[in-house]
Formats: sequence, structure tokens, C-alpha cells
Amino acid sequence: MNHSLTSYIHTVPDFPKAGIQFKDITPLLKHPEAVREAVRALTELARAARVQKVVAIEARGFWLGPLIADRLSVGWVPIRKPGKLPAPTNSVSYELEYGADQLFIHQDAIEPGEVVLVHDDLLATGGTARAACQLVEACGGTVAQVSFLVELAFLSGRDRLKSYPVRSLISYDQ
Ligand code: AMP
Repeated sequence: MNHSLTSYIHTVPDFPKAGIQFKDITPLLKHPEAVREAVRALTELARAARVQKVVAIEARGFWLGPLIADRLSVGWVPIRKPGKLPAPTNSVSYELEYGADQLFIHQDAIEPGEVVLVHDDLLATGGTARAACQLVEACGGTVAQVSFLVELAFLSGRDRLKSYPVRSLISYDQ
């Protein structure tokens, strides 16, 4: 648990709907020293996995994912919501804590056999990240690590990601 970063995560009750305790990471983004520390720590966790690409999930995965990729000196690939990617895509349907959706990746985004880090801001039930891992695999890639700034451990998202090494910096037990 990275206690110094925890103070930058604000809990917003009942967003986007009643009963959801939304973890807002935008306060962290306003502080370059906090962003630097988060990216440094996530990069250190990823280093041993020797990834060749970072795959970041729209939209909040785009906030730190590209910075992690830069520090690892690898490229990054967006996984996006419907109707955003212009070239031929692979897609997958998935459920999340508050609704259901579909994710897309460009078919040629990942080279066959490429070793990949999947990154998102937050792990809740794990449905989104699992769908992202399935997309990477549909492109012929291998998921070496799935990383998050924040993990809601009480939702047991790791159970859905059993096949992958999961890392997070900040974990909430309730
Ligand atoms: P899940 O698929 O349930 O693991 O949900 C993870 C995705 O939904 C991530 O992209 C998060 O940005 C978002 N999300 C789910 N629950 C929350 C929450 N309580 N606070 C902030 N973001 C959340």
C-alpha cells in the first residue's frame, strides 16, 4: 500500500449512481510529484515482466498508461469504447460494476507473441481488465502483468484475473 499516494485519491459517494463509492484520481493528476511517484512505482512493478508494449484501457487508463510506457521505453496501445477506433478491430463484450459495455482494439495493434502490460486506473470486479486481456490474446499477445493504481480488494477482482499477475499500488478493503 502506498500511503503517500492515498491522500490524493478522493472518494465521491453515489457517483455515477447511488451506492457506488467512486474513487476519483483527478486530485492526484494535479500534483506532478504524485504523478511521478505513481508512475515510478508502477514502472518498477512492471520492469521484471519485461513487457514490449503497454495496453491502456479507455479512458482513465490513458492517464498513467502512456507515462508508464514512456518510462519503460516501449510503445502503448489504446483499448477503446465502441465507435472510436478507425481501422479493423477485435472486440469483446463485458460487464462492469455499473453496467455493461464493449471494448475494441485494432487488429494489428499487437504483434503475435508480443509481451504486454495491461493497465487501468482501478480494479473493481475485474470484468473490464479481463476483457482487455482477452483482446490482447485475440491479437496473439501475451499478458505478462495487469496493473492498477487503485484496487477495490473487497470486490475480489483478482478472482477474475487468476491467469495473470496482478499488481496495484493502493488497495481498499471496504
Ligand atoms: P471493473 O470492470 O468492475 O473492474 O471496473 C473497472 C473499471 O470501471 C475501471 O475502468 C474503472 O475506471 C471503473 N470503475 C469501477 N468502479 C469504480 C469506482 N468505484 N471508482 C472509480 N472507477 C471505477
